[in-house]
Amino acid sequence: MVRSDGNAVVIVGASAAGLAAADGLREGGHTGSIIVLDSEAEPGYDRPMLSKSLLATKGNAEPRPLRTREHMVDRGIEVLPGHGAVGLDIDRRLVVTNWGEAIAWEQLVIATGVTARPVVTTGGVTLPSLRTRVDLDATRALAVGGKPVTLIGAGFIGLEVAAALRLRGVNVIVIGQCELPLAAFVGDEAARWLRDLHLAHGATLELGAATTAVTETTTGHAIRLADGRELHVDSVLAGIGSDPATDWLLGSGVELDAGVVTDTAGRTNVPGVWAAGDVASTLDPRLGRHRRFEHWTHAIEQGRHVGLNLARRTSEPYTAVPYVWTEQYGHTVHMLGERRPGDTDLVIEGDVASGEFVLAHGSDNELHGATICGRIRALRTFKKLLRAGATLDDAVGAATPA
Ligand SMILES: Cc1cc2nc3c(=O)[nH]c(=O)nc-3n(C[C@H](O)[C@H](O)[C@H](O)COP(=O)(O)OP(=O)(O)OC[C@H]3O[C@@H](n4cnc5c(N)ncnc54)[C@H](O)[C@@H]3O)c2cc1C
Repeated sequence: MVRSDGNAVVIVGASAAGLAAADGLREGGHTGSIIVLDSEAEPGYDRPMLSKSLLATKGNAEPRPLRTREHMVDRGIEVLPGHGAVGLDIDRRLVVTNWGEAIAWEQLVIATGVTARPVVTTGGVTLPSLRTRVDLDATRALAVGGKPVTLIGAGFIGLEVAAALRLRGVNVIVIGQCELPLAAFVGDEAARWLRDLHLAHGATLELGAATTAVTETTTGHAIRLADGRELHVDSVLAGIGSDPATDWLLGSGVELDAGVVTDTAGRTNVPGVWAAGDVASTLDPRLGRHRRFEHWTHAIEQGRHVGLNLARRTSEPYTAVPYVWTEQYGHTVHMLGERRPGDTDLVIEGDVASGEFVLAHGSDNELHGATICGRIRALRTFKKLLRAGATLDDAVGAATPA
């Protein structure tokens, strides 16, 4: 069965990027039908909350929905939950779903995000991870057992889950390959502060420790590390990164290279097919290379941008300054721009050890990014500086005395 009249804009993925694209289409004046499909049964919720307030507090509070039903009805946006795309036919302009139906499109937006990279035990069991509201229930269940929880991965998710569980009094062990957590994003000094923050809150950290195998035992799990040690632990949650959700596009003709490859405007190599959000690897006009971000605000902004381009039949380049934040033990760390390997990390304001600071990252007097904690006013300043292509000297000059 072919659904839709073929003039529809079909958006695959009803989360930050997909829903923003739908809104952008209406904002830009698109009057035709918009169909958004998603494989999740209840898509479209505040995903960052999963590893923060929703896990740190006891109870079964649900994540906040991104849109109300009225919002969708008012704008005439049809959402098809529980409809996963399993294939794409670019010649006949059809998306094929897990129900076996074909949805016809005139324009298509790919907004399928990423999936958690699986860690599989030697017994063939995939360890739990935290990406969806269903995963949240499983993670909560680990927390109520009273036993320690071990996190494999000291990235954003592993650290946030560790912090949330510690706030609930659950003992945690974090195993990370890196010597210092998030150092690539915030620099060594802030990463040391983050590490010490976890230690001060009673987390056990095994850093510089690569996991080589996980085996299920009668009492829990045995985790083998590259240095030869074996840790015997109870529950384990994996947070070792993610992979773009592009399986359904394999062989479709849409160019894939660690994500869906797009030009600066969000167009893929296939006319009428666009991509936005975590799944999109977008050409950065300033750097002349493709970049893919897994940032909430980016997904929203790029989704809207693609929707507007589509509605207005324009190809405006997407040039927003990347932004991501993380919350750990009551501290919100904001990261703007993109710190690069080898960058100098200058303390512009405050003092890192106190948890109130502004760091500028860059090299050769070029400003590449900023890490801001507790000095929220600096966010606006640094956004402007980064947008304007400012120098490290400009960043130093923009410091506000305490
Ligand atoms: C626990 C957690 C905490 C986070 N915290 C932060 C944070 O503090 N700050 C920050 O900046 N970012 C954070 N992020 C990242 C942020 O959530 C993502 O950048 C954002 O969700 C990306 O939005 P998206 O719409 O591109 O993709 P997603 O939110 O991943 O949505 C993709 C949607 O597509 C659907 N889908 C996938 N495949 C198919 C298919 N074949 N057919 C139909 N539908 C499909 C999925 O079900 C999903 O609903 C966090 C992520 C997680 C998991």
